[in-house]
Amino acid sequence: MEKHMTVCPYCGSGCKLNLLVENNKVVGAEPLNGVTNEGELCLKGYYGWDFINDTKILTPRLKHPMIRRSRDAEFEVVSWDEAIKFTASRLAAVKAKYGPDSIMLTGSSRGTGNESNFVMQKFARAVVGTNNVDCCARVCHGPSVSGLMVTLGNGAMSNSICEIEDSKCILVFGYNAADSHPIVARRIIKAKEKGAQIIVCDPRRIETARIADMWLQMKNGSNMALVNAFANVLITEGLYNNDYVANFSEGFEEYKATVAKYTPEYVESITGLSAKEIREAMRMYAAAPSATILWGMGVTQWGQAVDVVKGLSSLAVLTGNLGRPNVGVGPVRGQNNVQGACDMGALPNVFPGYQSVTSPEARAKFAKAWGVESLPDKIGLSITDVPHMAEEGKLKAFYCFGEDPAQTEPDLNLVRKAFEKLDFMIVQDIFMTKTAMFADVVLPATSWGEHDGVFSSADRGFQRFTKAVDAKGDVKHDWEILGLLATEMGYPMKYKDTKEIWDELRELCPLYYGATYEKLDGLGYIQWPCTTLDAPGTPYLYEGNVFQREGGKALLFASEWRPPLEKVDAEYPLGLCTVREVGHYSCRSMTGNCVALQTLADEPGYVTINPQNAKELGIRDQQLVWVASRRGKVIARASITERTNVGAVYMTYQWWIGACNELTVHHVDPISKTPEYKFSAVRLEAI
Ligand code: SF4
Repeated sequence: MEKHMTVCPYCGSGCKLNLLVENNKVVGAEPLNGVTNEGELCLKGYYGWDFINDTKILTPRLKHPMIRRSRDAEFEVVSWDEAIKFTASRLAAVKAKYGPDSIMLTGSSRGTGNESNFVMQKFARAVVGTNNVDCCARVCHGPSVSGLMVTLGNGAMSNSICEIEDSKCILVFGYNAADSHPIVARRIIKAKEKGAQIIVCDPRRIETARIADMWLQMKNGSNMALVNAFANVLITEGLYNNDYVANFSEGFEEYKATVAKYTPEYVESITGLSAKEIREAMRMYAAAPSATILWGMGVTQWGQAVDVVKGLSSLAVLTGNLGRPNVGVGPVRGQNNVQGACDMGALPNVFPGYQSVTSPEARAKFAKAWGVESLPDKIGLSITDVPHMAEEGKLKAFYCFGEDPAQTEPDLNLVRKAFEKLDFMIVQDIFMTKTAMFADVVLPATSWGEHDGVFSSADRGFQRFTKAVDAKGDVKHDWEILGLLATEMGYPMKYKDTKEIWDELRELCPLYYGATYEKLDGLGYIQWPCTTLDAPGTPYLYEGNVFQREGGKALLFASEWRPPLEKVDAEYPLGLCTVREVGHYSCRSMTGNCVALQTLADEPGYVTINPQNAKELGIRDQQLVWVASRRGKVIARASITERTNVGAVYMTYQWWIGACNELTVHHVDPISKTPEYKFSAVRLEAI
């Protein structure tokens, strides 16, 4: 049996593992002693590999390019030569007729790797001529990037996953680590075993609440009010670090004025918490010699998410919990390479290495390297702009690479209508996803296990992953497909391997310059910034309390609270919140094709409801119910549990039957454009 060292493709924990291979077939996985996982894996790491072998449980692997010559025609298998010519000519025709900004492209945060994301954004900018390129960070941690860039000057996790266990206080805010990042959850447990105090702010009794010293069961939609009240307590009780604030931050007076009215008593009715528990939580946080704040989608998938991120990072600034080991702020990224897709510039406002597209110097540098006269200077569209821009006829073509928005975007009815309205749609993937069913061209790619590259874990850690088995079918690497298309469109682009791509991007990105393949092979894990060839990388940011903002100081920032945008009423009396299923990642296309993971839970998805609400509605445990919103209705299985708070229901978004995004509302945060997945008004009816 052969063993091939690689990195898990499912979440941002970056767990290292061996794929076990017999006769060119993956037969198992075993944990390795990686920096973040130290010989452990969660069940997705152990059992999430057999989709590579084409199990056909959910859908078969894509094995040939396919095109549809008209929307009412069936897909037909074609040669690569025909697929590339067809795609390039149709894309070029849209560009010629409507301009480059009528085309939208995505990066991919799944198992594709940084190199393919780099090539995709280069294709968008240098070949198509648009900054309309985005990735699924938009629907998860986009607000973390936007908020932290403003307050600290860097959108990433400030600390390391392995530091979490040595923090003496962990404030877990809107983050269900046990289901999202089980290996991070273990670090929280280890911290507890080492004597840390744990504060959990979450409406649901999540797993971490069981070990918490304080569980603040706040009302859904009260994040900003609670964060402001936390700041109010730190300031009014003199618990903040006066010297740190004076020396390393700015904006204190305005910040203090904004949070002044948010006394713990004032927010009692908004948050559902007592003033006493709010005060005690902040006394605990402020008294700790080292404190860390971790957050997840419970912070970012709200219409006021960017403001809450700014507020949470301000708590760390107020208490001096930045710029040294075992403290900091941790937006823990969801899919395994969502950090990497952002690092590689699959975002509408930055080139790789977070270099702004509005900077003439950055544009000139990339244009020279890529051999084009100029690059677009206008910030591009976000992925959540696609439905209304297509509906309005302003977006004509969509190149969807390794994402499945027809499952994961809010208000799927709106999404489907938009896709039908497009002139041309390309899907590049390893499975026939729900989105692929709308495409004019389906381009089949190699999967995780069949190609090489580098992933970025949630804490900015680069790790190499390598091919374990030969690809199945007539498929190509993502970066090869993009190179063929670029060449056909008149921009010759050919790489011999991922190292050549990596070296090109290192030369263009000072943040990553020192992270060579050779060093990654030797050190195994390099956290950016790594600016020189002899630098080991950066486990925590802001050493010496120098922030990456102009002037080097952090910004203290608070905003007024506002309630969720959609209102509950007599017809739709419950608030639906979308959550994760531990056995499946994101759109489920990979995990749904794994035998062991598929047997953990089967369709339809479930809706969890509190016993009190279930009794009022006459709903029994495991009964099938309709869940309806102002946008649609789906069938689901009721799961009655005390862990769900009264007035709210929770659904995971992976299921084809019971797809809760049929129900979710398309309200977005005005800055990050991230949807408010965490609150849609619904009703339940027993079937
Ligand atoms: Fe590790 Fe995340 Fe993979 Fe689980 S899903 S093994 S926590 S990387």
